Amino acid sequence: MMSVSSTLQLKKAILVTIDGPAGAGKTTVSKLLAEQLDYRYLDTGALYRAVAFGIMQSRIYTDDDMAVDIFLKKSRLTLSPATKGFRLVWNDQDITDHLRTPEISMMASAVSAKPAVRNFLIDVQRKIGQDKSLVCEGRDMGTIVFPDADIKFFLDANPEIRALRRYRELTLCTSSITLDDVSKDMLERDRNDRQRAIAPLIPAPDAIIIDASGMGIPAVINHMTTTIVSRFGSTGAKKTHQH
Ligand code: C5P
Repeated sequence: MMSVSSTLQLKKAILVTIDGPAGAGKTTVSKLLAEQLDYRYLDTGALYRAVAFGIMQSRIYTDDDMAVDIFLKKSRLTLSPATKGFRLVWNDQDITDHLRTPEISMMASAVSAKPAVRNFLIDVQRKIGQDKSLVCEGRDMGTIVFPDADIKFFLDANPEIRALRRYRELTLCTSSITLDDVSKDMLERDRNDRQRAIAPLIPAPDAIIIDASGMGIPAVINHMTTTIVSRFGSTGAKKTHQH
């Protein structure tokens, strides 16, 4: 089926960062915003999930720093654009569709506190961002990875709403999970991500904070595009056809 959507043409190519906790709607918002700007989209959580997947598959203990170092040195992570977002290939294995389980979420949160893992991924992310025309989402996009980003958003929502949103996403692929489990896992991950020593989850000082608790996705996108256009100007909307 063919649909028609309009693409915003900005006066210059920019780099947009969207940080925030799990379940705040970052992924949906980032994808749609990238589509509207005709930009690439980068989900950095998927990179941490890929490392977690590899570590789990290799049966390495996360507190064995030396084993993690050796593992990272031997790892090849490739990210290639695809019709819907991108594919992630880990040492020749396409793992894109195996990354969004509760186990991988918790493991990603554990491995993301390790300096070796963050250093390994920072180069990957900066390389992707160097040409701008990118919307990237994560926890430390505006603070550590791209401190000079052109515009930074921090998307938040109250924990109940975030847990419900994650629960609905997860029950699309599995029925063996309860809202209570999702809520507990999410709060634990939040705590790990906010309290870790390196690259903790905090808004950059120059980030625009959006509390999406009472907002639908279209309202969030609208708020972001209005802010972007008022800062970087628009040369008009170009119609694009999508299949
Ligand atoms: O965004 P997502 O839920 O897929 O991220 C999974 C985990 O990866 C997070 O809980 C966080 O610990 C880690 N992460 C991170 N820095 C990023 C993106 C994700 O530490 N930029």
